[in-house]
Amino acid sequence: MDCIFCKIVAGEIPAKLLFEDGDCVAFADVNPQAPVHVLVVPRQHIASLAAAAEEQTTLAGHLLVVAAKVAKQHGLANGFRIVINTGDDGGQTVHHLHVHVLGGRQMQWPPG
Ligand code: 5GP
Ligand code: ZN
Repeated sequence: MDCIFCKIVAGEIPAKLLFEDGDCVAFADVNPQAPVHVLVVPRQHIASLAAAAEEQTTLAGHLLVVAAKVAKQHGLANGFRIVINTGDDGGQTVHHLHVHVLGGRQMQWPPG
């Protein structure tokens, strides 16, 4: 499968790894939108949040807990933004489920 995040998980494409465990990998976004911009992705290929199955509930929750851990590791005690772009209208460009962790600046609302 031609999936860029599967290739990062497999070590076939370099990335700045920040955390990994048996279920997921966290790495720096190549085009950061904030001083801290990390992506947390499951090792397993899941196309999007919309494609997550009932039996992947624990994994989906794990991604969020790891995202918060990564935020803490980066000193984001004053807050951070979690984003899961989903599908075309959601602005998803890489079709492997990923959690954005953004921080280090004041976030705005509503998002674009
Ligand atoms: P999406 O738009 O799908 O929510 O987010 C995809 C993210 O993946 C974007 O923020 C983009 O900068 C990032 N990205 C795309 N290709 C690569 C890559 O090869 N390496 C890394 N580290 N990030 C990537
Ligand atoms: Zn993939």
